[in-house]
Amino acid sequence: MTGTSTVTSHFINGAWTDSGGPTFPVRNPLDDELVADAAAGSAADAEAAVTAAAAAFPSWAAMAPGTRQALFLRAADIVERRQEELVQLMAVEGGASRAFSTFQIRLSAAMLRQAASWGYLPVGDVIRSDTPGRTATVTRKPLGVVAGFTPWNGAFYLAWRTFLLPMAFGNTTVIKPSELAPISSGLIHAEILQEAGFPAGTFNVVTNAPGDAAAIAEVFFTSPAVRCINFTGSDKTARILGERAGRALKRMVLELGGFNPAIILEDADVEESIKAVTFGAFLHQGQVCMNTRKVYVARSLHDEFVSGLAERVRALKTGDPTDPAVIIGPLINDHAVEQIDARVTDAVDRGATLVTGGKVEGRVYQPTILTHVPADAICTTGADETFGPLLVVEAFDDAETALRDAQDTPYGLSASIMTRDRVRGLAMAERFDSGIVHVNAPTMASEAALPVGGVKDSGWGRSGYYSIEDFTELRLTTMSSEPGRYPF
Ligand code: ADP
Repeated sequence: MTGTSTVTSHFINGAWTDSGGPTFPVRNPLDDELVADAAAGSAADAEAAVTAAAAAFPSWAAMAPGTRQALFLRAADIVERRQEELVQLMAVEGGASRAFSTFQIRLSAAMLRQAASWGYLPVGDVIRSDTPGRTATVTRKPLGVVAGFTPWNGAFYLAWRTFLLPMAFGNTTVIKPSELAPISSGLIHAEILQEAGFPAGTFNVVTNAPGDAAAIAEVFFTSPAVRCINFTGSDKTARILGERAGRALKRMVLELGGFNPAIILEDADVEESIKAVTFGAFLHQGQVCMNTRKVYVARSLHDEFVSGLAERVRALKTGDPTDPAVIIGPLINDHAVEQIDARVTDAVDRGATLVTGGKVEGRVYQPTILTHVPADAICTTGADETFGPLLVVEAFDDAETALRDAQDTPYGLSASIMTRDRVRGLAMAERFDSGIVHVNAPTMASEAALPVGGVKDSGWGRSGYYSIEDFTELRLTTMSSEPGRYPF
């Protein structure tokens, strides 16, 4: 599929399936070099994939926990064995630095190993009944087929998160990868699961050309076998899908964007805060939903923080991410470059101070810090995330105001509070309307076991083991051993 051929196929019912139809080019965002021609799937391909997943469901759901565990553990070993190849793939297809791809590989292997044991966890409860002789149990059951939309940005890890969690609870899956990185957001996973020996049909991938997504999605919405749609992407697309899901009465899990703040209180360790913010804001050149977008720093620390931050950020090597020293690779496409450039220009035109960055070479945008940004500049309003290496820093006099302003956004994904006073940090965290709050860690402090997910426009649902809520349903069973007493 990769390496030997530049033409990729769908992966349906355990086989690489060339529909013989049209293809679309997948290009390196750095230099537009062709990475692969990918199959431009149609509704018929999606239907075949859903049919295969539905047929594989009963035996996958019934598989002994130890058998399923062995598959997951084998997949984790394969991920680690293929690390160097995966790093290369994520660099050329998605512009990911080595720092970001190895982060994803580590998280992916960890998630596979954790999920491997979930089959042994209790699946229900016994409930006391008021009716004499009646026993009631509730048992968690898998849903059936879960259809997943996997994104291009944290492609490798987020794809695992999209299908592995449902599979760990006994569902089978069909994945529709992002058009921008279909190999690292789905096809490579099919290779890994195939080698690990996953049964045919448990995991299927259908790729599509840009503009054809709606036809594939329509199959997911109309197929009775598909019981849940697991989407990672923008809230704009989620609204379109959500409306359609409403008509089809399909369950949706949504992992959307964020406008993630960091609050640096006056007693924070400045050096530590600089490190946390640099990582939080600029990992994968700011193209992750959990990147830090805005820092609220106590005025007494502002100048020291900004100069230290600027120094650290200027030292980040930019360029071709196949160079292991490069931290800031290219943005995914011209649209992303135009968006960040327009927003930096808008802020500077309104009077913002450009501390560092603001320049672009090809699609590599220098990591950029703005201060003194007027409240009406689009990059600071919190209404829309700028998906790139842009950080706004603002001084505050009153922590209460910072806490309020930091939440003045439709999003609620992740937040960071830096303070030496842990009690105060936790008390502030309690008051954040956000799916995640890290005290003394960056907004990007992900781990496979931690439930990631948002509130408000950042989405519905959680990753990690808590996703059992999203990917199973409860079955109530009662059994009566005495004759019933009926009113008529
Ligand atoms: P991003 O901007 O991060 O690429 P999007 O939300 O635009 O995220 O797209 C995420 C996924 O949603 C992609 O796989 C894309 O194919 C799909 N998509 C976009 N528009 C539609 C649509 N109208 N119907 C169904 N799927 C769509």
